[in-house]
Amino acid sequence: MNRFVLAVFRKSPVVIIAVALFASAALAKPKIVILATGGTIAGAQASSAEVGYKSGSFSVDDLIKAVPQLKDVADISGEQVANIGSQTMNHEVWLKLAKRVNEVLAGDADGVVITHGTDTLEETGYFLDLVVKSDKPVVLVGSMRPATAISADGPANLYNAVSLAGNPEAKGRGALIVLNDEIHYAREATKTNSTSLDTFKSPNRGRAGVMNTGKVHFFSQNTTRHTTKSELSVDGKTVKDLPRVEIVYSYANLGRDMVDFLVSSGVKGIVLAGVGDGNSTDDALAGLAEAAKKGVAVVRSTRTGSGLIVRNVEVDDDKLGFIAAMELNPQKARILLMLGLMKTQDRNALQKMFMEY
Ligand code: ASP
Repeated sequence: MNRFVLAVFRKSPVVIIAVALFASAALAKPKIVILATGGTIAGAQASSAEVGYKSGSFSVDDLIKAVPQLKDVADISGEQVANIGSQTMNHEVWLKLAKRVNEVLAGDADGVVITHGTDTLEETGYFLDLVVKSDKPVVLVGSMRPATAISADGPANLYNAVSLAGNPEAKGRGALIVLNDEIHYAREATKTNSTSLDTFKSPNRGRAGVMNTGKVHFFSQNTTRHTTKSELSVDGKTVKDLPRVEIVYSYANLGRDMVDFLVSSGVKGIVLAGVGDGNSTDDALAGLAEAAKKGVAVVRSTRTGSGLIVRNVEVDDDKLGFIAAMELNPQKARILLMLGLMKTQDRNALQKMFMEY
């Protein structure tokens, strides 16, 4: 330290205090809350050589204890929101989770990590992308092997997730998914393989980035509307407030019975998991056109797993009163339509949402 600096220090205790405060702030670890919902990451086998296991067997405290290194990267606390296999994920848990994420991020936490099964991880992620009202990082993480497996992937994934949630670079990007050393925007990601560790892909826009032992490398921005820029909200809502939207899967020889049944049972929206470019049989399209005339919102998506469904290609959306899903796969289109219908029934306004979110 040169003489001038020493002289200032001697003369001014205020400077010393300011420097000490600055140094301690620089050293302070981010405060991360882990909200656990179950899944394979908390799953247990009867023995590590068995293929069968039960999701949601371990608690959030067990998950945190299993990775002592988490304490080096963040001040951690954990809460158990649910403990289920994500194949049974439902609107009730979603509302609870959205409320808690919003509460936690409105407080002094720097970010949130949600442990979750991989089956519906992309759906919960996209739901939160639309209804969380904060720029702070929201990171969803799961694993493909149960916690008791030989070479379980959960601990490393959790370490990456906590590191990412505490990283300022993760701010303002919407909900993120971390698995297998890859970062995906929840809007883009989809589970593509039933068992492989390399299961999450972002087929339309590509990965958000990669991670290695907690170190973050982003490749791209999320340019869609999400979180603080989203007009969609579930604040104060109960399960009954969420309009019923169902998915009809298209295939050769599909009739209109399924569509007619849904309309007669009072559904507010139908998403077509269409073949190819959001197509279906004449029968099914006739049923859907009638549904649209009766006021049911009909969205055309695709079962192909990727690609853009735009208006009026092989199907005359203008004439039949349909909405094109754009980039959203059927399960995500269902979520946007459900939340969108809580704001408006207007077809053009709903179509605009599918262009922006
Ligand atoms: N069925 C499990 C779940 O979604 C699969 C997993 O977590 O990988 O909870």
